[in-house]
Amino acid sequence: MSAVAAVLSTETRHPDPRGCDMPTCPVCADSMVAAEASAYVSDNVISYLWTCDTCGYGFVTKHALRRFACN
Ligand SMILES: [Zn+2]
Repeated sequence: MSAVAAVLSTETRHPDPRGCDMPTCPVCADSMVAAEASAYVSDNVISYLWTCDTCGYGFVTKHALRRFACN
């Protein structure tokens, strides 16, 4: 296992139907509350940097803006 940040895809995973943009920590399964930072990957893809408050694990998710709306 590596300690470096991993890139997770949220486009094919739906860990929690109540919060489609709120991933859970892959280490301790705690819910992420707010992204630490965001950056555009391309014109319609944005990535978010998340840091777990519980275990300190950091990871990045990518979101397609055309599918950004939750409801
Ligand atoms: Zn965690």
